[in-house]
Amino acid sequence: MPPPRFACFAIALPLYRVFEYAIDNKAPVIVGARYRLPFANGIKTGVLLNASEHSEFDPARIKPVLEQLDQHAILDEHMLALVRWMSDYYLQPLGEVVFQCIPGYLRGARAHHPLRVKRWRLTAADADLIDALERRSPRQFEICQALRRQPDGLTAADLKQINPHWHAVMKALQAKQVVRWEWIERPLSSQPSAKLPVLSDEQHGVLLDIESGLDRFAVHLLDGITGSGKTEIYLRLIADRLAAAMQVIYLVPEIGLTDQLIERVRSRFGDCFALSHSGLTELQRYQAWDRFRRGEVSIMLGTRSSLFSQCDRLGLIIIDEEHDHSYRQEDGVRYHARDVAIKRAQMLDIPIVLGSATPSLVSIANCARETYFRHRLDQRPTRYPPPPLQLIDVRNSRFDFGCSAQTFARVEKHLQQNGQVLIYLNRRGFAPVVMCHECGWQALCRNCDSRMTMHQSVQTLLCHHCGAKQAIPETCAECGHQEVRHYGIGTEQLEQGLRQRYADTPILRIDRDSIASRDALKSRLRQLQSGEPCILIGTQMIAKGHDYPAITLSVILDADQALFSASYRSSERLAQTLFQVSGRSGRGDRQGEAILQTRFAEHPLMQALARRDYRVIADDLLQERRQLGFPPYARVVIFRADAVELKAALAKLDEIKALLQPARGFAELSCVGPMPALMTRRIGRYRAQLCLLAQDYQLLRSVLAQTMPEIQQIPGSSRVSWSIDVDAYDL
Ligand SMILES: [Zn+2]
Ligand SMILES: [Zn+2]
Repeated sequence: MPPPRFACFAIALPLYRVFEYAIDNKAPVIVGARYRLPFANGIKTGVLLNASEHSEFDPARIKPVLEQLDQHAILDEHMLALVRWMSDYYLQPLGEVVFQCIPGYLRGARAHHPLRVKRWRLTAADADLIDALERRSPRQFEICQALRRQPDGLTAADLKQINPHWHAVMKALQAKQVVRWEWIERPLSSQPSAKLPVLSDEQHGVLLDIESGLDRFAVHLLDGITGSGKTEIYLRLIADRLAAAMQVIYLVPEIGLTDQLIERVRSRFGDCFALSHSGLTELQRYQAWDRFRRGEVSIMLGTRSSLFSQCDRLGLIIIDEEHDHSYRQEDGVRYHARDVAIKRAQMLDIPIVLGSATPSLVSIANCARETYFRHRLDQRPTRYPPPPLQLIDVRNSRFDFGCSAQTFARVEKHLQQNGQVLIYLNRRGFAPVVMCHECGWQALCRNCDSRMTMHQSVQTLLCHHCGAKQAIPETCAECGHQEVRHYGIGTEQLEQGLRQRYADTPILRIDRDSIASRDALKSRLRQLQSGEPCILIGTQMIAKGHDYPAITLSVILDADQALFSASYRSSERLAQTLFQVSGRSGRGDRQGEAILQTRFAEHPLMQALARRDYRVIADDLLQERRQLGFPPYARVVIFRADAVELKAALAKLDEIKALLQPARGFAELSCVGPMPALMTRRIGRYRAQLCLLAQDYQLLRSVLAQTMPEIQQIPGSSRVSWSIDVDAYDL
């Protein structure tokens, strides 16, 4: 058979097509490797998808590739199948998906050099020679004995564990021709070591349940109250997989990746894990990806995009805090890491464990459909259950920097009893509204349909959507009046107020403005860990994943807005946040308390939050979704457009709708729009949407299958661009 002469490549472009080039048929063809390609008047990097002997086009007009960049596939066969599935399911251009799934470091033409590692072994030298070392050179003997126990050999890291001065010892042994070394691409990972905490009966039961099915695909939902010891179960499952010589991907939300967790994984598994998160450089993330790919480490611990780490022996995927919104990528290639992870596990026939104290409604619904297995943990290993949420009715209260007198009384009680207090306020800055007292003029962003937030520390008004800055006005821009005031409370103002009121108590603030670096976060978390009384103020950054046993009071200052949000998801989000925040307290040896200030104490959802457990509320919310015909009982696909004028964005969606309308089955879908998006103007562009909603998923897919080939031909431009959002998070 003649060798292939042509190949199709994926290029990172928002186009629904692949690109054909001629290849050098003397070099081996590597599917999944990168090549440099001539493109228009420049050069682009492409990933080879498949090669063939013939082309449909005139061979004379097909350009040859410029250079092969990799000797190894950057995406193996399994990952290529996964990216094809993602492109098909999320209706995203294949080229963009392919480049989403490889490390940022490799998206250009940088070389991919697999690192090699030395491994030492015993030679076939005489056993007596080694035995003789026992008396003459105990240090050499010690290492030889370790090598005897490990016929596959030991790496530098292993040898260092045995003797920090191993280098000199090995040199001596090498001179005696007792040992030799070789280059390997895949060193063995060091084995876990540590004494294990005792499991509760409940944890033990859940572990046995999950362990009984580790050899096949299954989705396990670990539904355990805050502080019930989910992490310990993850670690046991990881140990089990490592013992079977398999690898594990362990995903956490960005902020869940604290030193606390990293230390816990390190103390259990030594250095056989790689870390990947947005605080690392592209090179560091690439190195983590490569170490995992080569099997040098067995665990990939990281945030969303770590899901795309490839390896030969994946045996388990864990997604902690599976309800967390950060698993969904909302720009560029839109996907949900949890859902892609489930697909990946299914393709490999391996188990996946989703964990949360407040599981997403969609996962709970999947348990009810019996597609997921639900495992419950209802007890904390400490004596005290999570505190119930107490409502503080503040309708007629006076406030000082957002706190009522009752709230202060509670804070003071806990500080006096040497407790730590957590105050949750999901609004950063000093004040969210700047307004003229005379005419009602408000400071609005010139690029977005949003208000400017006052930040006192930097003496600026800031837009939280586009980052626009402007000076704090002294007079009204509209009427010239001298009295421009600020309204509402942000974390900055709360911190200032609390510092004045509690001069002797340390006040820590954790939000995006106060935590410029991971080090700043670390130092605040260390202070919490000390257990000394203090007040911690924070936004959603503190709502999850932290375990600080000295916190005895959680205060939620203002959650009322969520009751009247236009989003159908807001109740789910509110319930998750409140249970997560209240669950931060009372994790140590004292009963905790959790309070919520509200002007709507009679609201049915507030009543439910105070009286019921999350699972009951979740069931009620699911009931409501079913009646309204919203996800998870329907599927949503949204076409989005944005342009410098609203008219152009709407026109683009009209064009798309005109292609959808003639499709068989379209009449049975609900189609809403085109209409302006909820926040119409953002970062200087007008946004519109066209929403398709269907209870019957197959029908929705069939309408899209009929029309996408034509829709994909609709050009986008910088003047008006369009995109598609499958399983859109919000309507
Ligand atoms: Zn005015
Ligand atoms: Zn803005």
